[in-house]
Amino acid sequence: MSLERIREKRFWPWEFIPFIPRDTAQAIYPYIYLPPKTYKELLDGKGTPRLQAVLVHEQTHLDRQEVTGPLLWVVRYLLDKRFRYEEELIAIREQMAVLAAANEELDISAFAQKLSGYIYLRMISYEQATQDLETMWINAKRSRG
Ligand SMILES: [Zn+2]
Repeated sequence: MSLERIREKRFWPWEFIPFIPRDTAQAIYPYIYLPPKTYKELLDGKGTPRLQAVLVHEQTHLDRQEVTGPLLWVVRYLLDKRFRYEEELIAIREQMAVLAAANEELDISAFAQKLSGYIYLRMISYEQATQDLETMWINAKRSRG
């Protein structure tokens, strides 16, 4: 993936949005913002499959934003928790394909915790997220062959 669309996540506007953690990647068309530590790893050529998987996740958001229109996408993402959850699952499916292909492990419980937590404005229950992630992970490993 080219570095052209990847930016370091620092300064404006991140410092002014207190509920968005600095250590999480974000896609806001047309850029992917990475936490400083992750960005440095990428520049140093230390991109692990995990980092590649995150980039693929964020790129999926960018692709979707481009199709829907970035502003409309962001508004719907913020206001409609079902849309938000579906968009996350679409991006996570791509992310899981990369992880499965690289034989990485996935901590479903921690993932479900994050998805059901405050970062995503409590868009889904922990139980439902766990169930969906487990199914998707099994499918990702299965289609790895
Ligand atoms: Zn996402």
